[in-house]
Amino acid sequence: MDATISVDRSAVVAGVQVKTGLYVGGRWRASEDASWFDVVDPSTGKVIAAVADATPSDAIAALGSAAAAQASWGRSSARRRAEILRAAFEAVTARREEFASVITAEMGRPYAQSLGEVDYGAEFLRWFAEQAAHVHGEFAASPNGDFTIATTRVPVGPSLLITPWNFPLAMGTRKIGAALAAGCTVIVKPAEQTPLTMALLVDVLAQAGVPDGVVNFVPTTRAADQSETLMRDARLRKVSFTGSTPVGSRLLEQAARNVMRSSMELGGNGPFLVLRDADVPSAVNGAMVAKFRNGGQSCVAANRFIVHEAVAEEFIEGLVKRTSALVVADGTAPVADIGPLIDDRQRQRVQRLVDDAVASGAQLHTGGWALPGDGYFYAPTVLTHVPVSAPIMREEVFGPVATVTVAASDDDAIDLANDTPFGLVAFVYTQNMARALDATSRLDAGMIGVNRGLVSEAGAPFGGTKASGLGREGGHTGIDEYLETKYLAIDTTVPA
Ligand code: ADP
Repeated sequence: MDATISVDRSAVVAGVQVKTGLYVGGRWRASEDASWFDVVDPSTGKVIAAVADATPSDAIAALGSAAAAQASWGRSSARRRAEILRAAFEAVTARREEFASVITAEMGRPYAQSLGEVDYGAEFLRWFAEQAAHVHGEFAASPNGDFTIATTRVPVGPSLLITPWNFPLAMGTRKIGAALAAGCTVIVKPAEQTPLTMALLVDVLAQAGVPDGVVNFVPTTRAADQSETLMRDARLRKVSFTGSTPVGSRLLEQAARNVMRSSMELGGNGPFLVLRDADVPSAVNGAMVAKFRNGGQSCVAANRFIVHEAVAEEFIEGLVKRTSALVVADGTAPVADIGPLIDDRQRQRVQRLVDDAVASGAQLHTGGWALPGDGYFYAPTVLTHVPVSAPIMREEVFGPVATVTVAASDDDAIDLANDTPFGLVAFVYTQNMARALDATSRLDAGMIGVNRGLVSEAGAPFGGTKASGLGREGGHTGIDEYLETKYLAIDTTVPA
């Protein structure tokens, strides 16, 4: 490697030393053209660090090192990979306050909720450590009994992992844990808004014993060029992406050229149904979690509340009361329930969705405005009487805005819920188990919370149907996304 680009730069972010280079082939370094980009704290609008800005050729170097490390990592024992992941779990857990501080600094989330993400994110490392040694094949007689069918599972190969900014640690560990457990080497591309948490994770993984070349890290502001270049290279065998549906479908087009394995966790438009026999106080509790966790910046956020008319008044009253009591503040403030939105572009988008809804007849119960000051804060908002055709009902809001639609019957509620191209998550509240099961069988979503506002869990399969994506992450099938089945036809004719 060119000695001029070998640097070991770091920044102190919220009191935590974070390396700010690229990590390629086991070395931290600058980008080939020595460019850096700024990371901003959305609570203050101030720059907190500069991170190396990988060029497409840096990404190719990362793929080269991932490809070179693939054979030995893929053949290393499952137990060894498991123990490295377990060590990484211990290390992230031991440094949970540091991770939480960096998350809060670069994406603004209230610190207590950032600690929650660290625990959730670390859990994927433990979960996949446990999965690594439990990958099995089969051994069976062929149907005619004339030979033996044996199957084994092998790693797919070097994988590109592209993550979003909304859960900067957990979206990384969910992919990296599964890939490493399966024996794949990886190139990690974090969102440009939140590269620091991932840099800290990559450092921890290296210290936990991940061999050089197995994990490579290439933050960039040139995401489209980077993926275009990498996806043309046949050494790359897999892409796993979490982000918006338009980018996901573009990556799928690129993946088609080299017939590349793809996992896509894309957008959602989550309906939250409160059926006529729901326990309303508990539905309001669930709604607060489903809507306002991470300020609504989650693909599994409830986007549309759909409430049976028999319980609508009580539900709306409870939701408005709780929403107007939420404290919006800098993520470092202990009182904060809601931090800023990730950037001003996103805040303007949320404002536009709310303004459009109000202009088309929606009733505003609380919020509906951007807070003054340097950070990108937006007041938690509740709207009713929103026309179903309004953009806020069709698009993912990604902000602290709840819309409530009143349905005349439970059947109408389910029809409204399914009226979307997305199918990631749905929530249903009812006190009757048979009604709950009937609703879950009719709701078109990959995940359904039944009397719960939170579905995310390392031990459960996360993923959606329709425009929400392909594949599942976490759970006992999460590792399958990184494995191929190899079948052996074995002649078992005993010589005469
Ligand atoms: P959002 O609008 O929420 O930022 P995106 O889908 O744009 O969602 O971003 C999710 C991730 O995808 C980020 O890491 C981003 O840098 C990356 N990304 C954006 N555009 C592309 C692209 N054309 N090719 C590959 N990755 C991309």
